[in-house]
Amino acid sequence: MIKNTFIASALAVTAAWTSAPAQAKAPAQLPVTVSPERITRDVQTLASDAFEGRAPGTQGEERTIAYLVSRLKEIGLEPGGPDGKWVQTVPLLHTTLGQGAISIAGTPVSQGKELYVSTLRPDDAARIDKAPIVFVGYGVHAPERDWDDFKGVDLKGKVAVFLINDPDFAAAANEPVAGKFGNRTMTYYGRWTYKFEEAARRGAIAALIVHDTRGAGYGWNVVTSPRGENYDIVRKPADITSLRLQGWIEGGAANALFTRARLDLAQLRTAARRADFRPVPLKGVSLSAEVPVQHEEIASRNVLGRIAGTQRPDEVVSLGAHWDAYGKGAPDAKGRVYRAGANDDALGVAGLLEIARAMKAAPAPQRSVVFAFWTAEERGLLGSEFYAANPVYPMEKIVANFALDILQTAGAAKDVVLVGQGQDTLEDDMARIAARQGRTVTAESLPERGLFYRADHFSFAKRGVPVLLQMGIAGASDLKQGGRAAGQAWIDRYTGECYHQACDAWDTSWNLAGAVQDIELVGTMAQELANSTRWPQWKAGSEFKAIRDKSSAVRKP
Ligand SMILES: [Zn+2]
Repeated sequence: MIKNTFIASALAVTAAWTSAPAQAKAPAQLPVTVSPERITRDVQTLASDAFEGRAPGTQGEERTIAYLVSRLKEIGLEPGGPDGKWVQTVPLLHTTLGQGAISIAGTPVSQGKELYVSTLRPDDAARIDKAPIVFVGYGVHAPERDWDDFKGVDLKGKVAVFLINDPDFAAAANEPVAGKFGNRTMTYYGRWTYKFEEAARRGAIAALIVHDTRGAGYGWNVVTSPRGENYDIVRKPADITSLRLQGWIEGGAANALFTRARLDLAQLRTAARRADFRPVPLKGVSLSAEVPVQHEEIASRNVLGRIAGTQRPDEVVSLGAHWDAYGKGAPDAKGRVYRAGANDDALGVAGLLEIARAMKAAPAPQRSVVFAFWTAEERGLLGSEFYAANPVYPMEKIVANFALDILQTAGAAKDVVLVGQGQDTLEDDMARIAARQGRTVTAESLPERGLFYRADHFSFAKRGVPVLLQMGIAGASDLKQGGRAAGQAWIDRYTGECYHQACDAWDTSWNLAGAVQDIELVGTMAQELANSTRWPQWKAGSEFKAIRDKSSAVRKP
């Protein structure tokens, strides 16, 4: 027995020795290691029918919160919420548009076909009486880029019509705007959220974005899928949006609308790429609406667990994943009614629990580490937004925020996909630690989709905290089995069939080897920062650097 073992070890050493020169970057085990079995068990539980697709405000939420708190207790964390509690109550506004009438220039338009709108106001009806319509181009006000599409034009009481994405998205290389907004990489100015916020800041009564699949990064079916429902955090009266209706106009319907106003949308698209663009009123057409609105308040919850730092407990490394999914829907071909979000984001939640377990088992860190399980991400990053607006620990002393949101389940990869390249120095940590895994970093494949602005870490980025998002659909992984083609095939299938559908369920085909690599990478990055005096930095050119720099005095180097 002993002898055989000895021989085997000796052979192993020889093998390692002889192959060393060819494999200079042999992968090493990282200090944070996680278990695919435990991850599978948590995913299976959270994505089971008993959890009803984990929609906020349902019995599924009750079960989810109870499960997460019991797991955090089991792991040995302490409560990380306000007043020493495990949970932070998140008041949500839920609105649903009923059957009503919307017309443009007296002609009825069909909700879901020509137009798709919803509301974030707690009113009993959305009423608009012959409001003038103004085309505002990309609707960007960016002083640091010398760009203002509004030119002081008053939008009060008007309907603002926007183009999606940034002014340089569709520009040719020789146009002056080229590169001013990150070329094909989307900046925050390109996001629909920014456009609605800007319309409301200017007192508009409604905002419509012209849909085009390339600019938006998704089809009309995605736009219309909430079927008139919308969510927000409950806001003080002074902070409620002026927009009675907000949404999208379908591309063909937009062309027809502009033609009706004797304008050419194609020409206006080109004009909107110039810094001297001015808003264009759509003469002779106005929008009217009389749509009943159901509104209710839902008390949902974030779950927070903490490992206290031994030396600088007020400095906090933050990690998050969202517990919510889409709840109940129409049955799919297999008769499944719950959209269980097994991957999106039960897998991220399970990964976070494993990082928490590994870090709790290690010697206590110098800085505190807070693990957050957000509600209502799918409703518009609302749990993390509420937390960031009402933080338990000040944003200035959050060292970094990491988010796990969708991980690939197709097996081990030779690389890791980076979202938001050029934003902050966490990408340099990522490259260094990925190299220890024998992996390289690949930038996300379609930065024009603006994924960097579409997960919970963004609620922290907006307030200046350096962030890193792991998102398995950001680009094809170079899989050990099948290479990048296999990585792309996984993304195509997941986004085409399963994303936000009942098909996002756990099944036996899942291979968690790649997800484990990503979770261990993020856990190791977090643990390293928790035992360091380092403060990650935004890179020059990031739209979030100025916000962080304002509070630099409170962070000791
Ligand atoms: Zn998600």
